[in-house]
Amino acid sequence: MKRRTLLLGTSALVALGIGGLATRPGSSARAAAGPFEIELTEAEWRERLSPEQFYILREHGTERAYTSPLNDEKRAGIFHCAGCDLALFDAAVKYDSRTGWPSFWEPMVGAIRESEDRSFGMVRTEVHCARCGGHQGHVFNDGPQPTGLRYCINGLALQFRPAEAA
Ligand SMILES: [Zn+2]
Repeated sequence: MKRRTLLLGTSALVALGIGGLATRPGSSARAAAGPFEIELTEAEWRERLSPEQFYILREHGTERAYTSPLNDEKRAGIFHCAGCDLALFDAAVKYDSRTGWPSFWEPMVGAIRESEDRSFGMVRTEVHCARCGGHQGHVFNDGPQPTGLRYCINGLALQFRPAEAA
């Protein structure tokens, strides 16, 4: 009897833990809480994005390190949101962080919003597009001057426009 009580108690706690995490505002492992200027249904996003982009932008996924061709992108230009095309980062603030993800030390004014991410047992600052809420990556405090910030961004969440084509 005692063992059964213990088991029940554990599963109830697990259920509570998961439920609590999923409903706490701002810490969801899904797309950031709105309202946003651009809000589409899941079906509309799936139509607009590739499955890999959907996973990153709408499901808070992370691409594997060193898989994005944008890691090696060194031309002048602007990195736009792959979800809504908002200009997010100027190539002038891109640098090689040697992490395997495109990294920037400063977003364009008003382009990026932040939320607390408590997934995977860590407390991180999640960053997303201010216009569509699409998940971009995370920001850390180990970046270069003048900001000291490292915006660690998924290449799949970005669309690069070289300056000469703009
Ligand atoms: Zn966007």
